[in-house]
Amino acid sequence: MKTYDLIIVGSGPAGEKAALRAASCHKKIALIEKKPSYGGAATHGGLPAKVLKDTAYHLSKETDQKLFGKDPRIKMPLQTFFHRAKELSTLASESVKTRLDRHHVDCYQGIATFSEKNSHHLRILGEKEEVISGKYILLATGSQVAKTAEIPFDGERIHDVSTILQMPYFPASICIVGMGIIGFEYASIFSVMGKKVFFINASSQFLAHVDREIAHYVLDQLKKRNVEVLFDCTVTSIHKPKNKKELLSIALSNQEIVHADMLLYAANRMGNIDDLQLDKIGIKYNHKKHIIVDPKTYQTNIPHIYAAGDVIGPPGLANVAMDEGRIAVSHMFDLQTSQLPELLSYGIYSMPEIGAIGLSEEQAIEKGISYGKGYAFYENTPRGNILDARGFLKLIFDQQTLKILGIHIAGPLATEIIHYAVGLVETQKTIKDLVFSAPNFPTLHQLYKDAAEDALKNIAPCSK
Ligand SMILES: Cc1cc2nc3c(=O)[nH]c(=O)nc-3n(C[C@H](O)[C@H](O)[C@H](O)COP(=O)(O)OP(=O)(O)OC[C@H]3O[C@@H](n4cnc5c(N)ncnc54)[C@H](O)[C@@H]3O)c2cc1C
Repeated sequence: MKTYDLIIVGSGPAGEKAALRAASCHKKIALIEKKPSYGGAATHGGLPAKVLKDTAYHLSKETDQKLFGKDPRIKMPLQTFFHRAKELSTLASESVKTRLDRHHVDCYQGIATFSEKNSHHLRILGEKEEVISGKYILLATGSQVAKTAEIPFDGERIHDVSTILQMPYFPASICIVGMGIIGFEYASIFSVMGKKVFFINASSQFLAHVDREIAHYVLDQLKKRNVEVLFDCTVTSIHKPKNKKELLSIALSNQEIVHADMLLYAANRMGNIDDLQLDKIGIKYNHKKHIIVDPKTYQTNIPHIYAAGDVIGPPGLANVAMDEGRIAVSHMFDLQTSQLPELLSYGIYSMPEIGAIGLSEEQAIEKGISYGKGYAFYENTPRGNILDARGFLKLIFDQQTLKILGIHIAGPLATEIIHYAVGLVETQKTIKDLVFSAPNFPTLHQLYKDAAEDALKNIAPCSK
């Protein structure tokens, strides 16, 4: 039996970065991946969605039609629409494998499972079956859609986020279930492509962690593009006519029936643990199938087994999964340990995009902080006008200290320009510091300075 210092299950962001970290200190590592291609959900779900968003954006009336006077979306062949997404996803997957090879990680293809009592052993169910042993094991198996009986997924007209990338034709209308980050991405893509979207959510709460003004602005932009929002309802049943030209009849818990060409289920996700057979060795997990770990070390209840990434639960972000993988390895091999940053920025690839860090207005109110606000609008900046961009930056500051507490952006490239805000909030810069910054002209960074100048007008008299 082959033995390793570390066996990693899963080649997504958590597994890959953990492997590279362990390889940098010359450990003998095995990585088991059940899919024929590497990179996990980030490479095969997240990345293609971003490419489709860009493709849709460039094709949309909102850009090209204004410039060229025609609508390039109308006769867009499906293959052409998916071409770049597939190409870049394959490229990313290959580069994960290249990095693992270069770091001398032994890669096994097959399903990893604890089929024995010995918790150091993993059985690989691949082309040939074999058992390997690890001093340490890291479970980085990610998450999957928590499928429900009411939704008869068929990969043709009724999709989850994996099969939507193989949709056989462009739907004229689509019902998207779940107003989370992924739901917003796809509602944006389809609506920008000129398709009718029904956007369904089990409650009236959506993008709960986002500043309400920003979240509502983005939703309003979707509504302007023929997105019909239905709150407080779930799908109770779906009638799929034999004739593919007839629409699906989607019955909702509020007694309404939605007629749409396709359905995308982008609601609940759960940990990907079924294949692992964790009960055989007694690893603890919760009702959402998230493996329970120590939040600082990522150790499970069995000390030599660690878990990281989406399989341990929220936030379900690739950058967080990567760091969790690295931190777990650092702990197991006594390397210089690190921690997740206390302040995490986030980006949502809706159209318009969202980027944010720090306190939202609601959080400032909840904490009883005496706060002020400053706004800047894309259309009031030269760069915004060059891009024909709409949206705004909202700055929250402390009225006593004038320190910047939070920055929230809705608009093109928000997921990129938000990173400047990380430094501002982390190093506790004030709105006065920001007013005296000198961003390049013409750039979207001018939004920061404009918002700070606006905030200066809103300082309470006692703080001036
Ligand atoms: C449509 C979509 C959009 C997204 N957008 C963003 C975004 O904008 N920003 C962001 O930060 N994140 C985004 N995410 C989330 C991000 O992709 C995940 O947070 C990240 O991929 C989690 O990494 P992971 O390593 O924990 O798991 P995964 O990437 O899910 O990888 C797990 C791997 O383990 C393998 N595996 C599972 N079980 C076994 C087994 N028993 N044996 C062998 N192999 C196994 C799987 O095949 C998979 O390759 C998005 C996800 C999706 C689906």
